[in-house]
Formats: sequence, structure tokens, C-alpha cells
Amino acid sequence: MGLIPVNSTSPDESLPDSPASIDFSTGLPKLPQALAYISQSIRQHTKAQSIGIVSLFVPPTPALYRMTAEAARQLRAELTERLAKALREQDRLYSLNNWEWLIVLPSLVSAAPLTLAMMKVRGVLGDPFETLDGDSLELETYCGGSLWPDDGDDAFYLVQSARIARLHAAKSGVDTLSYQRPMETIEAGQARFQKDLQRALMGNEDGSMGIYLQPLVNLTGAACVGAEVLLRWWRGEGNYVPPHHIIAALEKLGLRHNFTRWLLNQAMQAISALTKAGIEIPLSVNLSASDLLDAELPDLVMQILAMWDVPPHRLSLEITETMMVEETPQVTEVLRRLHQLGLTLAIDDFGTGYAGMSYLQRLPVEEVKIDQRFVRQAVGTKRDREIIASIIQLSHRLNMTVVAEGVENQETADMLWSLGCDLAQGYLYAPAMPLDEFIGWCRRCGRASNLS
Ligand code: C2E
Ligand code: CA
Ligand code: CA
Repeated sequence: MGLIPVNSTSPDESLPDSPASIDFSTGLPKLPQALAYISQSIRQHTKAQSIGIVSLFVPPTPALYRMTAEAARQLRAELTERLAKALREQDRLYSLNNWEWLIVLPSLVSAAPLTLAMMKVRGVLGDPFETLDGDSLELETYCGGSLWPDDGDDAFYLVQSARIARLHAAKSGVDTLSYQRPMETIEAGQARFQKDLQRALMGNEDGSMGIYLQPLVNLTGAACVGAEVLLRWWRGEGNYVPPHHIIAALEKLGLRHNFTRWLLNQAMQAISALTKAGIEIPLSVNLSASDLLDAELPDLVMQILAMWDVPPHRLSLEITETMMVEETPQVTEVLRRLHQLGLTLAIDDFGTGYAGMSYLQRLPVEEVKIDQRFVRQAVGTKRDREIIASIIQLSHRLNMTVVAEGVENQETADMLWSLGCDLAQGYLYAPAMPLDEFIGWCRRCGRASNLS
């Protein structure tokens, strides 16, 4: 079709292409490929040149909703064709959702060409579209732009910045806008929170943010065979901030990459300390959702393991079922490369998503963690016990280890043991503890399976 201005020597083409990575109507690649390309471009550009990112959106109207599926498909294809014609050869076009497109403009000399590109794009979409249903349709479109390096360093953050600028354009009734920080009006309290978070993460001088370890025990002998790394932050005057709150704020601030590096380093430090104490168990680290969209994650993990001289089998990475909803070739590739490094991959919170069992077979995963809400229900209801039993059976057939989360009493532990579950984690054994307390716990209970 010649619609995608693709530079054939671009490195992101080494990523596998499949129908799932291409938008059916437009023939364009989607968000994961856009993120991979932006990350690559950031690495290849010097700061003398900028990269522009444009989010273009067509807000739904009654006419669009009433359109037949085929006419809508053809309209999206026609719009894509007009966009492609307006772009330079080196520019790239992606389809994010039905009515959202993303344009990446490499090698810009200043902010001005970004504005010009957005105006040009709006211009070519100004003429009416003849639809398959026989209507002549004028489309309302909004553009928002962001710029590397001015607006951020992280591909995902830059895309979101362009989207925020586009939202702002629609709200203000103008066609195009470039991103500016004040668009994210934040209250004083939130600004303070962000500053505290940045300080805790970057300097970690006050030691208010750190990791705790919660044991994973073997259901047959209650020996500690591993531990999960859980984030803990007491902010300011000792106010505890739950991990989900922190993770969401980090994503918003574009600090996800820094955080992942910090977290992995914390985990490596703990593994080294455990080794010194004669406790040679693996630690599990929770990944954030957008980590899996980051093609550089496997390299980062490899570097950090090498730096700390930690063998890969001492590290396990937990990914949630919901992170895999957008299971694309890029995500699968990141998982495949992580698996190749020799570390363990675990599916967290299993049973709460919609992915179903068949997807266990497709992923290079060695461990399944059954979600705690699900485990708790299973004590009371036969049907839930049966579901857990079948998860265990299937996982064992696939050579996977099964961990039950949130085990709070002996009755639950006995039920899980009788169903053949391998490992358990929960307050029955121990809560998450700081490293020195964890070492003490292992020693006191004589429980660490590799305690020498
Ligand atoms: P998760 O991965 O499912 O972690 C288990 C959570 O259950 C932890 O909560 C843990 O303290 C709690 N828990 C453990 N045993 C029991 C029990 O017997 N009963 C009950 N009621 N709860 C139990 P926490 O530490 O508040 O973490 C919540 C979630 O935040 C985690 O869920 C995980 O999704 C996320 N999280 C925590 N640390 C990190 C991190 O370092 N990175 C990322 N990306 N996410 C993290
Ligand atoms: Ca987890
Ligand atoms: Ca979990």
C-alpha cells in the first residue's frame, strides 16, 4: 500500500511482525512498535536534534457511530493515506486506537517544525471524506505534540505528553497544541508528593524508601525457598504510601525506568547480603505494566546481574495476568529474552484476569501465583477449590511451580497442600520484613532451605 513511511534500515524492524502488531484497517504498526522506535531514536539522536511526537485524534460523532464497519474501515484507511502523503520520508505513522494515530518525526532542528507538521497534518484532513455509505463527511480532528529532549526522556512519557497536549487542544477548542508542563495543573499537595518521591528515589538519602522481603515457603516442609521483594515507603512524618500509589505516580512522572533500575539494584544488594549470610534463595521482583513494553528491559536486567555478579537463577520476575492483555509480539519478545537470560518468570495474581489457562501454555513462564482473593474464597466454596485444583494440575503438566498467595491460616494451608500446591506466601508464615529481620527470621526458624 505504501502507506507506512518505513525506513527499511531501522533497527526496530528486527522485532517480529505478526497480524497482532498491525492494525487491520490501516495496515499500520501499533503502540509497542512506536515505543520501540522512539526509544531507538532517542539513543541514536544527539541533543542537537529533536524528535517530535504527534497524537492525532478524531473524536467520535453520531455519524461515525452509525457508519457500517466496512465504511469506517475504509475511512480510516483513507485518512491514513492522506496523513502518509503529508509526511516526510523519514517520518513514521502508527495506529493507536480506532480513531487515534501517532506520528514520530525524527531529526527536527527545533520546536518550530513540530508545529508546522501538525498544521500540515490538520490541513490535509480538512477536505471532506467520501464514505462507502455514500456520505460526504467533514472530520473534526485534534493534534497534540511533544518533543524530545525538551519534554522528557522516556518514550512512553513522551507519547502520553503528546496525548495530554491533544486533550488540552480539544478542551480549549483549538486544532493543535504543543505540550507544556502547566497543562498538567497539579495542586500544591501533589507537587510536594512528586518532589518527595523524586528525592526518595534518586538520592535515597533519608532511607525512607526501601524494600521488604516476604518469605515463600514450601507447603510440604514449611522451608523458606524464596522471598518476594515488596516496595515500602514512609513519607515525611512516617505516613505509609501503598506501593500501587507509588507505581502510578512514577508512571505519571516518567520515572518508571529509573525506578526499575533502582528496584533491581536494591534486589541485587539484598541477594548479595543473603548470600553472605549463607541464605542462597532467589528473590522475586514485581515488574510494572509498562516494563514489558520496554525493549531495553532484558539488557538492563543482564547488565545489573553482571554488575552484582549474581547468577540469573537467583532472580525471579513477576508479571501480572492483566499486563498480558495486550500480548503483542514485542511483549512476547521481551519475555522470551528475559527467559533466555536464565531467570524465572512468574505470573502474578493468576485467576483474576481474563486470560484463561490456555495462555499459560504459550508463555515462557515457570511459576504461577494464585491470587490471594481467589485463595481465600476457595476455603469456603467447592467450585473455587475445583478451579484451583485444575490450575494446579495444568501448571504441573506444564512443569510450572504453583504458589498460593495470602495464606493466613492453617486451614487454607492444609487445603492447598491437599490440592498439591507447591509453595505458599502469607501472614501465616510471615509478613514482609526488612532485610536484617528477614535474615533473623530465617535463622530463628532454621527454615531457609539453603541455609548453610
Ligand atoms: P502482590 O505482588 O500481589 O503482593 C502481595 C501483596 O499481598 C503485598 O501487599 C503483601 O504485603 C500482601 N500480603 C502478603 N501476604 C498476605 C496475607 O496473608 N494476607 C493479606 N491480606 N495480604 C498479604 P503490598 O506490599 O501492599 O503490595 C501490593 C501490590 O503492590 C503488590 O501485590 C504488587 O502488585 C505491587 N508492588 C509491591 N511492590 C512492588 C514493586 O516493587 N514494584 C511493582 N511494580 N509493584 C509492586
Ligand atoms: Ca507479586
Ligand atoms: Ca500477587
